Amino acid sequence: MAATLAQDLRGSFRTGRTRPAEWRTTQLKALVRMIEEKEDDISDALHADLAKPRMESYLHEISLAKGACVFALKGLKTWMKPDKVPAAITTFPSTAQIIPEPLGVVLVISAWNYPFLLSIDPVIGAIAAGNAVVLKPSEIAPATSSLFAKLLPEYVDNSCIKVVEGGVTETTVLLDQKWDKIFYTGNGNIGRIVMAAAAKNLTPVALELGGKCPVIVDSNIDLHVAVKRIAVGKWGCNNGQACIAPDYIITTKAFAAELVDSLKRVLVRFYGEDPLQSEDLSRIVNVNHFRRLTLLIEDKEVADKIVLGGEIDEKLLKIAPTVLVDAPPDSALMTGEIFGPFLPIVTVEKIEESIDYINAGAKPLAAYLFTKNKKLQEDFVTNVSAGGLLVNDVALHLTNPHLPFGGVGDSGIGSYHGKFTFDCFSHRKAVLIRGFGGEANARYPPYTPEKQRILRGLIKGSFFALILALLGFPREKR
Ligand code: NAD
Repeated sequence: MAATLAQDLRGSFRTGRTRPAEWRTTQLKALVRMIEEKEDDISDALHADLAKPRMESYLHEISLAKGACVFALKGLKTWMKPDKVPAAITTFPSTAQIIPEPLGVVLVISAWNYPFLLSIDPVIGAIAAGNAVVLKPSEIAPATSSLFAKLLPEYVDNSCIKVVEGGVTETTVLLDQKWDKIFYTGNGNIGRIVMAAAAKNLTPVALELGGKCPVIVDSNIDLHVAVKRIAVGKWGCNNGQACIAPDYIITTKAFAAELVDSLKRVLVRFYGEDPLQSEDLSRIVNVNHFRRLTLLIEDKEVADKIVLGGEIDEKLLKIAPTVLVDAPPDSALMTGEIFGPFLPIVTVEKIEESIDYINAGAKPLAAYLFTKNKKLQEDFVTNVSAGGLLVNDVALHLTNPHLPFGGVGDSGIGSYHGKFTFDCFSHRKAVLIRGFGGEANARYPPYTPEKQRILRGLIKGSFFALILALLGFPREKR
């Protein structure tokens, strides 16, 4: 892989090839075609990488990717239009506008858990915004990565859209180059490496990171509906290997037993008596992550808190949906992002305490609340800071392209989805155009008290000062 890739692509970008709406539309239409024609290949790759159930592949990756493309195609012409804004009195007469321009050559570094969607979604926005783009998919999902390397050159303009496969070595070579934006999805530790590399060239970054996403469960709910939604948002999203999957539940001590009972019933209905055999549950992505996860529950003090599940199969890399109640607060399970099938429940005396509990930790990517209590909903919406909030469901907020998706604080920098992806890869260029009329002599040296009076009046919005300025007072020789 060339250490001059960014530079080479900058050459293509500078020809102006990626700027016209026609180029962008052609590429996006080709991506729609690719998704439609290669749906089975994509699904097979996701199954090879994660044993991802085909239904999940379609719902969570393929249909969302196609939806993002179609949304961009529909919005593109409007998004590309300059925004006319009012002209200021200080520049009268003039016209002012904001023109969205492509940033240039951008790098997308993607993660393994939704390896198709997380790669293609930012690429769609980068193309829509008129950039040249390099995609570096995750090496931890090798089947999807190599499918991208094969398919993209078949469908899109390879002089401006490229795929580079590889891990740390290849990504480091990429990070050593000068990009106009780096869009990274993954954990915060690597996010810091990406940001440090970007800082050397003052390259802006979008960091789509993770964290511990809490779910507050009040007792004033439709329990069966709430538990089905929590269960599908946890185990029905890659078996918990999802950035916005619930990481832990907070509920009251009085309600915990009822909640666990309901979780048990729903889990049996979803995945049967032996969930390790269920075709509807993804496996853990690889041995390293399997070991990382099993270590979290190895400690006796933690293992003793398991109330549901806990079964593992190292050969199949499968872990059953597992619920724990009041695991030790200082355990790795409770301090770091779990990113797997364990769902600990934290109990509090009063549900209102849960907001302080969340705010005591790092800002999550998503936070959820189940309640019919409007006051609690209001407190939650006002007082919890997270990338996104969702009341009475989990994860689904990301399916609305009118909502920005991204983190805050430790969960990330910047956002995307829908037009926000276009904005993420655009510079909003301020453009002011004047003619040669409206010459205000008062702005030019030598600075006299009279000129100062006119200018102060002008800045304060005085009509009289405007007339004086426009008439060219104080008069000067040409
Ligand atoms: P990962 O291991 O696939 O790593 C992400 C990318 O970083 C890969 O492309 C990888 O090649 C690259 N990388 C790894 N080490 C590197 C290094 N030393 N230098 C340069 N690049 C390097 O994914 P991950 O980090 O395990 O992903 C899981 C994390 O991502 C979780 O924290 C999860 O919450 C978060 N995540 C966030 C989102 C989101 O949209 N906010 C989506 C998915 C995952």
